Amino acid sequence: MNKPKMALEKGVPSSSRVLMLLGQLERMNGEAMMSDAEVSRQVTSKILHLIQTQEKTRKELTTKGSGGMEVILSSLENTRDLQTILNILGILNELLSVGGGRRIGVCVSKGGTGVLLQLLISSSKETPPNEELMLHVHSLLAKIGPKDRKFGVKARLTGALNVTVNLLKQNVNNSKLLLPCLQVLRVYSANSVNAVSLGKSGVVELMFKVIGPYSKKNTSVMKVALDTLGALLKSKMNARRAVERAQVWSLLAIYQDWHRNDTRHRHTLIRKSILACLKNVTNSRLGRKAFIDADGMRILYNTSTECLPVRTLDSIVNTSSLIMRKCFPKNRLPLPTIKSAYQYALPHVPAGGPVEQMYNQPPGVDDVVDESDDNEDVELDTENDTENEEDDKDKNENDDIETDIAKLRPRHTQSRPIDELRVYERFFLELSEDFLDFDLSDPRSGIGVTPAPPLPKPPKPTTLPTADQQQDPHRPVPTPPPPPPPSTKDNQLVDPPAADPAAQARQLEKGEPRAPEPLEPQESIGLSRAPEKLLLLGETFSLSPAAPTTQDHTPQGEIGGTPRILEAADLSGSLGRLLLEGCGSGAPSVGGSEDGSVEQGVLEVPDTAAMLPLHDPELYIQMAKGTRSVPSYTEVAYPDYCGHLAPTTPEPILERVYGVQRTKIFQDIERLIHPNDILDKVVYDLDLPSCPVIDDGESLKFNSQFESGNLRKAIQVRKFEYDLILNSDINSNHYHQWFYFEVSGMQVGTPYRFNIINCEKANSQFNYGMQVLMYSVQEAIGGRPQWGRTGQDICYYKNHFSRSSIAAGGQKGKSYYTMTFTVTFQHKDDVCYFAYHYPYTYSTLKMHLQKLQEKCADGVYLREDVLCDTVGGNPCPMLTITAMPDTAGHTHLNQLRGRPVVFLTARVHPGETNASWVMKGTLEFLIGTSPLAQSLRACYLFKIIPMLNPDGVINGNHRCSLSGEDLNRQWQSPNLELHPTIYHAKGLLQYLNAIQRAPLVFCDYHGHSRKKNVFMYGCSVKETVWQTNINASSCELHEDLGYRTLPKLLSQLAPAFSMSSCSFVVERSKESTARVVVWRELGVQRSYTMESTLCGCDQGKYKGMQMGTRELEEMGSQLCVALLRLHRLTSPLELHTHTHTHAHTHTQLLEVENELIETQHRRCSVTTSPSTYVLDEDEPVLEEVDYSADSDTDQELQDPTEPLSDSEIN
Ligand SMILES: [Zn+2]
Repeated sequence: MNKPKMALEKGVPSSSRVLMLLGQLERMNGEAMMSDAEVSRQVTSKILHLIQTQEKTRKELTTKGSGGMEVILSSLENTRDLQTILNILGILNELLSVGGGRRIGVCVSKGGTGVLLQLLISSSKETPPNEELMLHVHSLLAKIGPKDRKFGVKARLTGALNVTVNLLKQNVNNSKLLLPCLQVLRVYSANSVNAVSLGKSGVVELMFKVIGPYSKKNTSVMKVALDTLGALLKSKMNARRAVERAQVWSLLAIYQDWHRNDTRHRHTLIRKSILACLKNVTNSRLGRKAFIDADGMRILYNTSTECLPVRTLDSIVNTSSLIMRKCFPKNRLPLPTIKSAYQYALPHVPAGGPVEQMYNQPPGVDDVVDESDDNEDVELDTENDTENEEDDKDKNENDDIETDIAKLRPRHTQSRPIDELRVYERFFLELSEDFLDFDLSDPRSGIGVTPAPPLPKPPKPTTLPTADQQQDPHRPVPTPPPPPPPSTKDNQLVDPPAADPAAQARQLEKGEPRAPEPLEPQESIGLSRAPEKLLLLGETFSLSPAAPTTQDHTPQGEIGGTPRILEAADLSGSLGRLLLEGCGSGAPSVGGSEDGSVEQGVLEVPDTAAMLPLHDPELYIQMAKGTRSVPSYTEVAYPDYCGHLAPTTPEPILERVYGVQRTKIFQDIERLIHPNDILDKVVYDLDLPSCPVIDDGESLKFNSQFESGNLRKAIQVRKFEYDLILNSDINSNHYHQWFYFEVSGMQVGTPYRFNIINCEKANSQFNYGMQVLMYSVQEAIGGRPQWGRTGQDICYYKNHFSRSSIAAGGQKGKSYYTMTFTVTFQHKDDVCYFAYHYPYTYSTLKMHLQKLQEKCADGVYLREDVLCDTVGGNPCPMLTITAMPDTAGHTHLNQLRGRPVVFLTARVHPGETNASWVMKGTLEFLIGTSPLAQSLRACYLFKIIPMLNPDGVINGNHRCSLSGEDLNRQWQSPNLELHPTIYHAKGLLQYLNAIQRAPLVFCDYHGHSRKKNVFMYGCSVKETVWQTNINASSCELHEDLGYRTLPKLLSQLAPAFSMSSCSFVVERSKESTARVVVWRELGVQRSYTMESTLCGCDQGKYKGMQMGTRELEEMGSQLCVALLRLHRLTSPLELHTHTHTHAHTHTQLLEVENELIETQHRRCSVTTSPSTYVLDEDEPVLEEVDYSADSDTDQELQDPTEPLSDSEIN
C-alpha cells in the first residue's frame, strides 16, 4: 500500500471511501481470482475497519443499487485466502448484526445462503477445520437461516447438515463453537425431513448431553439446545426414540430441577423450552403413556400449582395445563350408551338413514373410546385452544359455497301436481270466504274464525321400527295418547269456534288408532315417586287452599275443575313443579294435599295476570295435559306454570375473570391427582329403572322430567361440585347443548360448581360473556317470577371425555366439551331451575295462542288451524292473520284477496328457544291495536307456523325431531311420515306458488349460539358468485337487489339487528334448509333465516348487554314495522287505493313511522323513489357487506376485544 494512495483517500469525503474500496474489490473479482492476497487482505480489512467504526458506511454498502452485497459475496466465493475470507465474514457479520431483517433479506436474495454453505463444505475438508472460520460461518448461517425459506433443504442437499453435526460432536465441550453451531442446528431442525435425518444421526441424544442438569453457566447454549430438541421431537420417530430411551422421564427430571433452582424466575424461557419438548413428545400416544408412567401429571400439577401465584409465570402454567389436558386419559362418558335414554317407535325407519345406522351398531361399540386414535394433528393445533374443528370449517368454508350457477338460479320446480296440492285450499279459507256470515259492523266478529278441518291422515304402514328390536326393558317408551279433556266447551271464552283447535282436532280423531302402535306403557316415573316427594316438601312449605291465586283475573276461574287445579298449583309452589295426574282426568292431581301435613301455612302464588297478559297458570295445566311426550311426563316445571316476567332492563354481558378456564381445568386435573377426594356419587340417573332420588341431606336433588327437560345424569364429584350429562336428542346419539333441569336441597351461601360435561359445539358464547338462566321458586313466590342470567366463573372448554369414531359418525374420536358455571344460592329450601336459554315449551305456545285469540284487537281476522299432527301425535298449529274486510262488497273482498302473503315460521330447532320469544313479539304486535298493526294487517295476509318442531321442543331435544334428524335439512324432499310439519309447510308454499300467490317474504326464525346480535341470512346469486371469485358471467348477472331491503330496514329499526352480520351467500351445506329451498324452488326472492343471538349485542343500543325476552320480543315486533315499510316500497300504488279508506290512520302511521326511522340517526333515502323496488345502489349498506359474516368463529376467536381463553394467551 503506497502513501500517495492513502493521501488521495484522505482527500475524498469518507462517504465515498468505502465505495472506492468496494470498487477496488470488484475490479479484483473481475480478474477471476483475487491474485494478490496481500491487496485483497488490505482492502477487506479497511472495509471492515470502516464499517466497524462508521454506521453510515454500512448503509452505503447496503443501499439499493450500491451493489455492495453482490461484490462482498462474490469476493467470498472467489478468494481462497483465509485472512481475506475471515475479513469478509467479519464484514458480513457487521452488516447483518444491525439493520434488522432487511439486510439479511438482501443477503439471502443475493444468494448468500449458497455461498456460505459452500464455504462451510469446502472448509470442513481441512483437518482440523479452522475454528475461527467455522465460528464465523455458523454465526452468519444462524442469522440468515431463519429468513430463507429453503434453508433447511439447501443445507441438506449441500451436505452442510452433516458438517455441523460432526463439528458439534467433536466440540461438545467447546463453549465458543457450541453456541453458533447449535443455533444453526436449530434452524435445520425446523424442517421435518431434516429432523428425521438428524434424529438418525443421534442428535436427540447429543442434545441431552448438551442440556445436562441445572446450571447457571451457558444458559444460552442450554436454551438453544432445548429449542432444537423441541423441534426434533415434533417428529414421531424422534419422539419414539426419546420415549424408548426414557427421555420423557429425563425431561421431567430436568424440568423439576430448573423449577426448584430457578427460584427468582430468571430463566423462565428455559423452563418453557423444556415444557415445549414435553409438549411435542406427548403428541404421540406412546409419549403420553410415557408421560403418565413417569408421573408427569403429578409433577406438572405440583409445579404449576406453585407457579400459579406468580403472574409472570403464566405461560409456564398455561403450557403445563395444555400438556396435562392432552395426557389426561380419555374416558367414555359414564353412561351405558350415548344413545338417547328414550326411544320412539317411528312409523317407518328409512333404510340407511341415521336412525337405522345408529340402532344397527353392535351394542358396546357405539360409545367405546377408540384406543387407536392418536389425535396427533388435532393435538398439534390445540396450543391456543382455537378449537380445531371450527378452524377446519373456516378453511373449508369456500368449499361450501355453491359455485354451480345453474344450481344457484331459482328454478320453479313443481314437485307435486296441483290436484294434490288442492288439499291445502282449506288453509286459505279467507281467499274464498264471502264474509256474508260475518257481521262486519261488529268489529269483534272476525276474532277466532272457524278453523279449517284437519288434513286427511296419510295411511301409515305398520313397519316395525328398528328401534323396537332392541327393547331395553327399562327404557321409557311412548304411552297411549291421553284422551281429550272431558269438556273442551268449558274452556271456551268467546264464541264456540274459538275453542282450542288442538282439542278439537283431538276430538275428531278420537278412537282412531294411532300408528305406530305404542309399545307397552312404562311404569310412570313421575307418578310412582312424586307423592312421596310431595309429603316430604310439604313439611317444609305449608299450603293454604285459600291462598290468593290468579283466579280473580282470569275467566277460567269459573270452570268446574278450578278449585282442584288451584290446590295443585299451591302444591307446586312447594314442589317447584306440578303433577299432572292420570292422563285424562279433568284436573291435575292434588297429590298429598289430602294429607294433613301439607296444610300448615300459607303459600303465595305470584299474581302476574296483569303483567303477563298471555299467561294463565290454569290454562297452562290444561294445555300441558294435552301435550304428548315420549317419556309421558306427568309433571310441570314451575317456571312454565307460573310464567316469566322480563326484567325492565337488559342484563350486562359478564366480564370474564382472568384465568377462569385455567383454574377450572386444574380442578379437573386434581381428580386424577387426588382420586380419593372424589365422591363420584350418582344422584340422578334416567338410565336406572326408577331413577331413585337420593335424599340424605348430603347432595343436591335433580330433576328434569318435565316438558323440554333433558338432564340424563347427575354425579356429585365433590361436596359442592356436580357433573351433569344431558340426554341426546331422541333416536339419536348426539346433539346436546340445550339444557333445562331442576335443583333443590341446596345450602345457602355456598358456591356450587356445575359442569355439563357432554356439550358438543367447539366453542360457545359462554366463553364470551353469556350466562346461564336461573329461575328461583322462592323469588317467584316473593313476587319476582323471572328467569335471570346467573352464574360466575363460566367457561367452555374441551374435556377428557370422548366417544369412538364409529359413534361420532366416522370422524376421529370426538371430544366433548365442558360448560361450567358456579352458582351461590340465596334462599333456603328453594327449588331452582337452570336453562340454556329462556324456556318456551309447546304447552306455552298453545296457551299463548289461546290467549291471543282472547286479546285480539278489533277488526282482526285471526284463524288457527292445525296444519297436521306431528310424529309424536301433537297438533302443529298454524295461524292466519289479516284485517277483516271493511264490507263484504266486491272491492273490499278483492283488496283482501289481493294482499301479498308473508310466511313466517319458527322453532324448527328446539334448542333455539329465543326464536319462540321473537315469534311471540311478532304475534302480539300483529293482533294488537296500534295504528301500525292495523295498517300492517290491511297490507298483508300472514301465514304463520310458530313451532315447526313441537315434538323436539316437548322432549327436550336440542336440534332434531323424533326422527333423529334436523328438520331444517329436509326441505328438499320432506317425508310425509317422518317430517310431516315440513312436508305440509312446503305443501302450503307450493300451493301458494301454484295459485300465483308465492309469498313476498318468507322468514324462518332461529337462534345462534356463537355470534352476537340479530341478523339475517338471505340468498343472492351475485353475492354467492362474488364470494367464490368466479369472475365468469358474474358481470352479466342481473339480480334484483330487493332481498337486501328488509334486513336494511331492520338495521334501521331494530336496535339488536346488525346489518354487517348478515350474509346472502348460498352454501351447499344449506341447500335443504327452508331459506334456500323456498328461494330456489319457490322463487321467493326475500327468503330469510333470521338468527337471534343466545348471548347479547356488541353494537347498537344493547351493546354490552345480554338478550332478554323483552329484547327478543321487541325484535319480533320490529320485524312487523319493517314489513310495513317494505310494503310501501314494494306496492306504492296499492297504498294509495288503501289510504282513501284509512286516510286518517294512514297519516298518523306515517308520522309515527317516520319518527321511528329518524330516531335511528341514519340517512334513509328510500322514500324518495317510491316506484323503485330496491334501495339506491349508493346506499351505505352496500359497503357494509361483510362477506366473512358466516365465518363467525374465526373472527370471533381472534377478536382482540374478546377475552381469550386462557391457554390462548401464551
Ligand atoms: Zn337454527
